Amino acid sequence: CYNFCAGPAALPQVVLEKARDEMLDWHGAGLSIMEMSHRSPEVVGVAQRAEADLRELLGISDDYAVLFLQGGASTQFAAVPLNLAGENDLADYVNTGQWSKKAIAEGRRFTRVNVAASSEDSNFSTIPPRESWQLSADAAYLHYTPNETIGGVEYFWVPEASAPLVVDMSSTILSRPVNVADYGVIYAGAQKNIGPAGLTLVIVRRDLLGRAGDKCPAMLNWQTAADNDSMYNTPPTFALYLAGLVFEWLKEQGGLAAMERLNRRKAGKLYAAIDSSAFYANPVEVQSRSLMNVPFTLADDALDKQFLAEADAAGLLNLKGHRSVGGMRASIYNAVGEDAVDALIAFMQDFEQRNG
Ligand code: PLP
Repeated sequence: CYNFCAGPAALPQVVLEKARDEMLDWHGAGLSIMEMSHRSPEVVGVAQRAEADLRELLGISDDYAVLFLQGGASTQFAAVPLNLAGENDLADYVNTGQWSKKAIAEGRRFTRVNVAASSEDSNFSTIPPRESWQLSADAAYLHYTPNETIGGVEYFWVPEASAPLVVDMSSTILSRPVNVADYGVIYAGAQKNIGPAGLTLVIVRRDLLGRAGDKCPAMLNWQTAADNDSMYNTPPTFALYLAGLVFEWLKEQGGLAAMERLNRRKAGKLYAAIDSSAFYANPVEVQSRSLMNVPFTLADDALDKQFLAEADAAGLLNLKGHRSVGGMRASIYNAVGEDAVDALIAFMQDFEQRNG
């Protein structure tokens, strides 16, 4: 089977096999890594290796703290203002889809929010050009969503701004190289390209630590997490272990430059198949089409159910679009191989021939 789920998403087969083999007896310890204290040298070692591998993959300098937290990206929607802005401060946000909107709504609970630009008018099929953004002179930060998982819209540029850039990279992280130094804060839920759900990654420039007010809960305070090596409380140790295996796997694949080449090839094929047919359509402006999430519609939505049932029977799983937009969505994260995309395209062409 091929799994096109948007998240929790496919994990590399070899990672799952390794985790299975080590499940009951981790490296001869006689017990599972899941059963060990997070203060044990074994688990601390796993966490340190995961961090070192991630730093190598993304080129993260010592100017940044790497935090492994919990609560998903949604918790960071609150943690971002709590760590960076007071109630009377101002934060800029760009609205390019459902995840931006959620970040904005949560941000408003804790600080004053200026929506600097929005693509709602185009039904989130575009990214507003940088020239049109109305940034505040004194914003505590500028928040945007480099890849909108539901709309399938991705930035292939980094906006210029004087405020620190804070980005929700949940569905694009590790899909291609990024220059971490461009950002103040990068955060991501793990369940797409990092590992299993339950783990949340925050990469924060150290000069942005220590700005949280007294009311910021300890569990949301990045400084507290950094001071305690992400072990202020019991971390999700098994998820962290699996993420470590994914990072090792990524290094074996040749790192993020190799992933980018593969991801561009996969996405390029799929968009080409969609564009070459009158039966399928993708609404996103060409230069902002996501490498990871490819939404598409059928010419006749009465066929949606049949398409999904037949895809499922053919082992092409989880192609249903998000409930807020309908249609289909193929999420083609790192662990989804080119063979999966080829199989999907062959199925789509066959389906069109029979029903178009
Ligand atoms: N942000 C983006 C871009 C997402 O795709 C998702 C989940 O799919 C979230 C935030 C929410 O993440 P979580 O479920 O980890 O809170």
